[in-house]
Amino acid sequence: MSDEPTFASALVDDPPQPMIGCRGVSKTFPGAGRDFVALDGVDLDIAPDEFITVLGPSGCGKSTLLNLIAGFDLPTAGTVSVAGGPVTGPSPDKGVVFQDFALFPWLTVRKNIAYGLREKRLPKAEIRRIVDDMLDTVGLERVADHYPHQLSGGMKQRVSIARVLAIDPRILLLDEPFGALDEQRRSGLQDELLRIWEQRRKTAVFVTHSVEEAIVLGDRVVVMAAGPGRITAVVDVDLARPRDRTSDEFNALRREVTAHLWS
Ligand code: ADP
Ligand code: MG
Repeated sequence: MSDEPTFASALVDDPPQPMIGCRGVSKTFPGAGRDFVALDGVDLDIAPDEFITVLGPSGCGKSTLLNLIAGFDLPTAGTVSVAGGPVTGPSPDKGVVFQDFALFPWLTVRKNIAYGLREKRLPKAEIRRIVDDMLDTVGLERVADHYPHQLSGGMKQRVSIARVLAIDPRILLLDEPFGALDEQRRSGLQDELLRIWEQRRKTAVFVTHSVEEAIVLGDRVVVMAAGPGRITAVVDVDLARPRDRTSDEFNALRREVTAHLWS
C-alpha cells in the first residue's frame, strides 16, 4: 500500500497544524562533574488560540521550557517549532512577560509601553494611537506619565503586559507573571488577561505554580515534575469562563490536578 496521503485521509487523519510544537525536547545544562538534565523528552502540541497553563514545583523546568519556546535558548535534543517552522531565536511574534516586570525605571509608563514600537520605527502618530489603546485596555490612563517606582506591583505588571501586547505578538509567553502579587490583584489581572486573550485571539502559554491559577486560566493544564523535568499529565479544563473557583466541578479538577502534581 502506498504511503501517499489521499485527500480523504488528509481530512480524517491530519490534525490542524499546531501553533507551537515540542517534539522530544530535552535540555541539559553542563554541571560540575555531571550534566544536569533540566528537561527530558517533552512532547507538546499547542493549538492556535489555545490557552495553556504549565504547572509544576520549583525547579521542574517550566522556565526552561518557556525559554526554549521564546527562543532565548536552544534544546539539547528534539525540536521546538512555531507555526511549523523551527524556533531559532527570539522574534516579535513571541511576546514574553516575566515575573519581575522588567520595566525600564527611567521611562514613564507611556514610554515603557512605546518602547518596542519605537524599536520597530513606527510613525509617531501610530505609536501614540497604539499606546493610548493599550493604556485603555489595561486601565492605566491615569498613570501614563508616572515612572515605575510610583506604581503598585499590580500596575507594574499591567505595564509589562501592555508593553508586550503593544507589539501584538501572535503568541504570549508568561512566566509566573502574577507570582509576586497578592491574591486580590492576582485574580483581577487573571480576569483582565483572559479578556485580552479572548478579544485579541492569541496563543498563550502561562507558567504558574498555583493549581487554582492553572485551572482558572487554562484550556488545558500541563503538569510537570522534576528530576528530570518532564510532563506527567495534561488535564483538559472543560469549564465555561469565567470560572467559579468554588463550584463542585472546579474542586473536582483541583483534586485531579493536585493528585497528578503529587504523584
Ligand atoms: P522552574 O521554572 O520550573 O522553577 P527552571 O526551568 O528555572 O525551573 O530550572 C530547572 C532546573 O534547571 C533547575 O534545577 C535549575 O537550577 C536548572 N537550570 C536552569 N537554568 C540553568 C542554567 N542556565 N544553567 C544551569 N542550570 C540551570
Ligand atoms: Mg521558573
